[in-house]
Amino acid sequence: MSDTTRDARIRGAVEVLLSEIGEDPAREGLLRTPERVARSLRFLTSGYGRDIDHVLNDARFSVACDEMVLVRNIDFYSLCEHHLLPFFGKCHVAYVPRDKVVGLSKIPRIVDVFARRLQVQERLTNQIAEVIHDKLDPLGVGVVLEATHLCMVMRGVEKQNSFATTSAMLGSFRKDARTRMEFLNLLHGRGERAAAAEPFGAASGTHPTAAGDR
Ligand SMILES: [Zn+2]
Repeated sequence: MSDTTRDARIRGAVEVLLSEIGEDPAREGLLRTPERVARSLRFLTSGYGRDIDHVLNDARFSVACDEMVLVRNIDFYSLCEHHLLPFFGKCHVAYVPRDKVVGLSKIPRIVDVFARRLQVQERLTNQIAEVIHDKLDPLGVGVVLEATHLCMVMRGVEKQNSFATTSAMLGSFRKDARTRMEFLNLLHGRGERAAAAEPFGAASGTHPTAAGDR
């Protein structure tokens, strides 16, 4: 289907939606809403059309370094696949290179490729970790996502669970507790000596709707 046909169909669907919730799609303020929603949705789901190899392009370099690379506090915005409402927050990515690194600016772009799709937080976390594992063949990779889910906050259900933390640990991050602790301590801005004093609390949060609200 061409982009034009698809956009026309999305506009039509939004018009139906507006009518069905009791609005008048012909009301002045709503006249261009279907068009705006179509454009906004195209952007918010643009990750489906992105190719990771294209994103990484020439940004992979050979290095003789096995120190941890950490990119923290990457802002991300995604849409929950259960309610089509945003969830958003911070993503932290670390890996220990085997012999390849990627330009640091590429990490947030990798996050966007998967965030700009319909998602659940756990899958988003895993996909980011797995693609770095596949494309860089590092000794290990760790990804932590901290997110607020508007589907919970706005609907007033289980507000206390509207903030969720998820993590994915592969390779040495999974096998070696010291590597994992180094990552988690760096995330909290602590030195190595503070290790293990306060274990990372909520490393395996779940999407709040998994708790039974669908
Ligand atoms: Zn949701």
